[in-house]
Formats: sequence, C-alpha cells, structure tokens
Amino acid sequence: MTTGRIEDYLEALNFIIKKKGYAKVKDIAAYFDISPSSVTEMFQKLEKQGFVNYEKYGGATLTKKGEKIAVNTRKKHDTIYQFLRIFDVPNEVANEDACRIEHVVHKKTMLRLTQFVSFINKYDKKPRWLEHFQQYYTTGSLPECERIEKNK
Ligand code: MN
Repeated sequence: MTTGRIEDYLEALNFIIKKKGYAKVKDIAAYFDISPSSVTEMFQKLEKQGFVNYEKYGGATLTKKGEKIAVNTRKKHDTIYQFLRIFDVPNEVANEDACRIEHVVHKKTMLRLTQFVSFINKYDKKPRWLEHFQQYYTTGSLPECERIEKNK
C-alpha cells in the first residue's frame, strides 16, 4: 500500500536521482524544506517496503518497484496540471492541486483526463469552443454571435 506521502517521496527521489544518480537525505530535506531526521525515518520506511535501496553514507536509489510508482505519479501530476492550465487555473494552484489529486484520482478518470489533454494538444491553436469558454469564465457572458443564434 502506498500513501500520498510515499508517492511524493518517490517522485522527489526520482527527480533528484535522475540529475545526480542518487539522493542524499539532505537533498530530500532541502526539496521538501523539512528536517533531515524525518527524511532519514522515511528512507528507512521506504527501504523496508522495497521502494528504495538506502545506504546511510551513499544515499538512496529507487528499486524497479519504487521507480514505477514515481514515474506513474509524475505522469498523473503532469496531466492534471496541464488539464487545469487549459482553463487558466493559476500555475501554483494547478501544481498544488495536481500534487493532491494525483494520489486519489481513479484510473478511469485519469484516462479521460489524459485523452482530453492529448485531444487539446492536437490543435495548433486554441479551439474556438475553448475560446468561447474562456470568454465565458472571464466576462460571464457568451460571445455575441452565439447569443444571437440562441435567441432566434
Ligand atoms: Mn503529491
């Protein structure tokens, strides 16, 4: 069983390991801005559960199992983030929400979100209906032409 906290650790570990080959306690402590002692504790827990290989003086690397969860969590994060950005949710909010939703979202919901983001990315420019929606959420009203058609 993984918790959101474990998934976030694996994500962070993967991020740092990709850059320098391993992650030290102090790297993760700096990443999350938390105390090294709580990171050490978590490293031991992650090792016990088979997610990381941890050598006190060498640092931590991910096992296959740990890496799989890290990559999967990151993928979900990116997709949810992109989904929210389509509707101009502010950058920081989109990141924060993605970091929470990624741990609880259903597989089937994730599939549709992934398809939606990829669908939008197929357009070279913002599709018209999305421009209309943008106008709707910024001004509260539909574009002029749409309204006229509807009132006919
Ligand atoms: Mn998260």
